[in-house]
Amino acid sequence: MDLKKRIEKFRELEYAFNKDFYQEIKESHTPHTLFIGCSDSRVDAETLFQAAAGEIFQIRNVGNIVPREEEPDTHPSVVSAIEYAVIVLKIKNIIVCGHSNCGGCAAMRKIDDYMEKLPYTGEWISQSITISDYIDQRYPDMKEEDKIIMLEKLNAVQQLDNLMTYDFVKQRVESGELNLQAYYYDIGTGAISVYNYDSIFSDIIKEITSNRKLMFT
Ligand SMILES: [Zn+2]
Repeated sequence: MDLKKRIEKFRELEYAFNKDFYQEIKESHTPHTLFIGCSDSRVDAETLFQAAAGEIFQIRNVGNIVPREEEPDTHPSVVSAIEYAVIVLKIKNIIVCGHSNCGGCAAMRKIDDYMEKLPYTGEWISQSITISDYIDQRYPDMKEEDKIIMLEKLNAVQQLDNLMTYDFVKQRVESGELNLQAYYYDIGTGAISVYNYDSIFSDIIKEITSNRKLMFT
């Protein structure tokens, strides 16, 4: 696979055929949506939304995680992109997209191994460890593969609550200027489940959030 050939092809075909479009967007962009997705190479916002360049502002990280405002060592990389998207670009939607067979969520189930062998990854994904612990306590007899699917879904919805810890997000959601949704993308079927902040998982997320607050007090 030759990356140089691919960019040459981009210049010769995509850019050459759509030159007017690229001239229109060269000065600025007005994306309508902030997409917070996993780094996983199969989860591609432009493909999912059939979107063009300039439409989707993106944050990708392992496990599609948003750090909470009140927790120690909140990582500014993710939050700075959210702040810019919401306050400067005035995006209308934030979509947090979880997905099937997520390596980040599977790693949460083996957090001790990761802390030892991939300490940066371990530290990052431990932000969602209370969700994994909650599933073990609440559903001790559930099969491991089902626990992972539940974790992938709950982890996406949890990030909506994490987003709401930032005043600049909360105010705009409450005034109706900003719409928050979590998606769960099943790569094997192409199905996408959509969850609002007040979803079937709301009560569970409230319980998980109160558990994690106990961890940090
Ligand atoms: Zn993933």
